[in-house]
Amino acid sequence: MSSWEALAAEIRGCRACLELAATRTTVVVGQLPTQGAHVLLVGEAPGANEDLSGIPFVGKAGQLLDELLQEVGLPRETVAVANVLKCRPPSNRKPTTMEANNCRGWLTAQIAVVDPALIVAMGGTAVEWFFGKGAKIGELRGRVHDKAGRRVLATYHPSAAIRFGPRGMPRAALREDLATAAADPLVAAAWKVSR
Ligand code: SF4
Repeated sequence: MSSWEALAAEIRGCRACLELAATRTTVVVGQLPTQGAHVLLVGEAPGANEDLSGIPFVGKAGQLLDELLQEVGLPRETVAVANVLKCRPPSNRKPTTMEANNCRGWLTAQIAVVDPALIVAMGGTAVEWFFGKGAKIGELRGRVHDKAGRRVLATYHPSAAIRFGPRGMPRAALREDLATAAADPLVAAAWKVSR
């Protein structure tokens, strides 16, 4: 069993958040391609479709993400995907600080296992996870930051891109930031070494 699968098995048994453990259908651990990945996308939490399927980013936001990834030349099957929370908050409410803290160790362990050349934090919850409370996407996006030894790019969540429409700023910014990830020289260098 790979270390990702061993970690996933542990996460699936987690009941640290009593409400989420009682209401979830599945624990949505995340995805790591079998050949590994050099980009890790981090979102907020599973929604209804993800909770039912156990797969991250399969609803409308996931479809838009797949589309944009394809457009910038970073296909979904080449990236790892995880969320700050592995269990769906009821009615898709925002994760509480306690829930994010409960789940923090799991994402930290996933980052260590994937060891990505670049992390893309999508949306306010993921951006605050890396940059701290009150971190603003608008101020951080567009460039790679060094956070505790990890290279992190902050951007909008695909659900914000949907909310503001196809001509809205979040969609354009998300696409631009995913293109930056696709063109990142350290990601390209990591692929050269691993192939
Ligand atoms: S959200 Fe994370 S910490 Fe909370 S029960 Fe699910 S796996 Fe455990």
